[in-house]
Amino acid sequence: MTVFPSAKPSSAAVPNELFDPKALAHRALAGPPFTKEEMLALLRDPEDPEVLHILCRAAHLVRLKVFGNVLVLRGIIEFSNICRNDCLYCGLRRSNRNLVRYRMDEEEIFAAVERAIRMGFRRIVLQSGEDGAWHPDRLVRLVREIVTRYGVVLTLSVGELPFEAYRRLMDAGAYRYLMRHETSDPELYARLHPGTSFGVRREHLYTLKSLGYATGPGMMVGLPGQTLESLVDDVIFMRELRAEMAGVGPFIPHPETPLRDAAPGSPILTLKMVALTRLNLPETHLPATTALRVAFRDNPHLPLLCGPNVVMPDVTPPRWKVHYDLYPGKTKADLVDDGENVYAYWERQAAEVGLVVD
Ligand code: SAH
Ligand code: SF4
Repeated sequence: MTVFPSAKPSSAAVPNELFDPKALAHRALAGPPFTKEEMLALLRDPEDPEVLHILCRAAHLVRLKVFGNVLVLRGIIEFSNICRNDCLYCGLRRSNRNLVRYRMDEEEIFAAVERAIRMGFRRIVLQSGEDGAWHPDRLVRLVREIVTRYGVVLTLSVGELPFEAYRRLMDAGAYRYLMRHETSDPELYARLHPGTSFGVRREHLYTLKSLGYATGPGMMVGLPGQTLESLVDDVIFMRELRAEMAGVGPFIPHPETPLRDAAPGSPILTLKMVALTRLNLPETHLPATTALRVAFRDNPHLPLLCGPNVVMPDVTPPRWKVHYDLYPGKTKADLVDDGENVYAYWERQAAEVGLVVD
């Protein structure tokens, strides 16, 4: 086994096997659960590349054990960039007047689903801002139509809705719901989300879970004012929720938001959090998120080798996807030309690191 000399912990309270990939992977699969102190010890030097290496090897071993070498692809259709919310970090926030707004209608969405299916996708994610014109009744009809007409596995990521709407959407055939908790630090959450609170977000997530959705929380890494401790709390929050999916990506400042001058989230720390998430939630679907792939544009294989088992390529029609500008780099994350088959592109990417797509 490779030895990582400089990664040895200095504190006697931290056992050496915490810094050994195989021991870490074994612990992740057999328990007991990692403690907060252990996770903080692993993150003590956030930028240390050797600990990153150890965490990634451990997380990759766990993903191979649980999911084999399969990389799950879900095509994401971003069907509206209109949003009533004003999240401080997001380029779609309602106060951003310098954004071309669009809303696809049913026919355009069906055409996008059909195009994705032709490429090879069998799983579709519908994502949008919190767009009032997409009333729950209309969403329910859309979901029912897509599921019955095309037989795809459908994930929703359309923000907070009345609780009864979640139930109706599930009855209509929605299987999974992505709603990041963004940060588990209640003060930071309140600062970033005018007019709402972490408690509200938590309630939505637990409601989705209790209704039977495969539930997907997640957080940004490197938000201004975020601490390492709160990042560990994020992982524990997702572990307690028993999240079926977990979206972890770096914060990337957007020039048309109040956080334009904030420092971006560290790619290395973000990747460590991805690996730690895999170690704490071995069976959770963990995407190599778009923001993570943007941060590792120069080393695109690395995120695939740190625990993720999912990629969600953008299959929004090219004329609209350039306007789904959550953060810089987002709209050009997949390095494919507009006419190119992004499913085939990911088949090739997966093969380069010994994975096969499903
Ligand atoms: N409106 C829905 C879905 C679209 S936003 C919702 O909020 O759930 C999807 C995700 O994009 C958010 O959960 C957030 O974590 C991420 N995001 C938004 N702005 C970002 C930024 N500046 N950097 C990194 N991720 C960002
Ligand atoms: Fe709207 Fe989602 Fe962006 Fe918040 S993160 S402003 S809810 S699109």
